[in-house]
Amino acid sequence: EAKRAGGARVVRFAAEMRERAARRNDIELELRQALQNGQLFVVYQPVVALCADGGTDHSAGVEALVRWRHPVRGIVPPFEFIGVAEECGLICALGDFVLERACRDFVHWQGELGDLAPRLLAVNLSRAQLGQQDWAGTVARILAKTGMEAQRLQLEVTESLAAQDTDVQQRLHELKALGITLALDDFGTGYSSLASLHLLPVDTVKIDRSFVSQSETSHHHRVLIEATVKVAQSLGMSTVAEGIETAAQATVVRTLQCDKGQGYLYARPLPSEDLAAWLRRPGGA
Ligand code: C2E
Ligand code: MG
Ligand code: MG
Ligand code: MG
Repeated sequence: EAKRAGGARVVRFAAEMRERAARRNDIELELRQALQNGQLFVVYQPVVALCADGGTDHSAGVEALVRWRHPVRGIVPPFEFIGVAEECGLICALGDFVLERACRDFVHWQGELGDLAPRLLAVNLSRAQLGQQDWAGTVARILAKTGMEAQRLQLEVTESLAAQDTDVQQRLHELKALGITLALDDFGTGYSSLASLHLLPVDTVKIDRSFVSQSETSHHHRVLIEATVKVAQSLGMSTVAEGIETAAQATVVRTLQCDKGQGYLYARPLPSEDLAAWLRRPGGA
């Protein structure tokens, strides 16, 4: 009896695995087409400079985030396809697309918005992209093609990626040699370590949303934010608090001397046209 029940479980498990593999294949196939058919697009979330003296926080930059407009499923968020794209090697084409699109939009805002234009463009990077032959060369070509200034571009890498090996470090240094800056994304998740921060060639540390969202209620999380900011400051790195949703959270991270903030309190990720309108809003910038 027990054996039969176990057998049934194995059959069910195998069926689930098959289903998952089939679904993954579907996504892969569709994603390949999506790239060709222009179903992928980029939205931008403002990053604001937190004004320590109690003045108005003002816009400092934007982070580019990819979206998929699926003909049947509607807008698909990245967590549903970035992983698949990484597994099947599509992430490189996807990453190139996002980088080029974002640089084009950024240069367009500079012309259209003048002083109100964002000052920095952050773009997320996957491990596989760094593994590409001469990826720094690809980035340099995209910068030249779009007219994007290198010092306005910041590439975001995760800690597990950045700490991984000397090969990756070498690639990161090649990128920095172009004049672009690097940010360490989602800091505090995974096996983050303040002690190894100095080993990474990053300019900015982005403190993960999980710390910010608990900063009002948890002394422990406030202490960790404070420690991160202090270490970052001592290393000459700037800090960004991710996922600020309430005015109280903004006050906490501002008091703890985070330089910048990002989150729904300020704005959700916006399509390019809506971002321009947000930057032009009365009392904004
Ligand atoms: P991330 O780089 O940490 O981006 C921040 C994520 O937090 C975004 O989710 C953003 O919409 C969300 N967020 C911002 N403020 C708030 C807030 O106040 N509350 C809450 N609940 N969420 C907030 P999104 O756009 O779904 O992206 C998820 C992740 O997917 C990104 O995390 C990034 O790791 C990855 N990703 C997005 N676009 C790309 C891309 O073009 N290339 C690569 N390789 N990864 C990407
Ligand atoms: Mg990011
Ligand atoms: Mg992040
Ligand atoms: Mg995050």
